[in-house]
Amino acid sequence: MASSPQVCPICQVSIDPSAGPAEEVRFSSGMQASRAKLWARVCQFAKGEGCINADASQRSEPTKTDYFGEAPSIDMDGDSPKVNI
Ligand SMILES: [Zn+2]
Repeated sequence: MASSPQVCPICQVSIDPSAGPAEEVRFSSGMQASRAKLWARVCQFAKGEGCINADASQRSEPTKTDYFGEAPSIDMDGDSPKVNI
């Protein structure tokens, strides 16, 4: 039933399950990704209102790299700056 491409009305990305779990999501930029990455970067902010990717059972748990990379903090105290990643 959910094998045909869908477009999330909130996030404006298309999800094509036939492409496989790792790249079924296609962002408007053309980048392909997993539902987990879509959720981590977009859908969690949509608060689930009409979002087709709001169901946690439909995606895997997002990993660190699924979120936007944050700049590492740099500890300037001490003799040599230490980068905390
Ligand atoms: Zn969405």
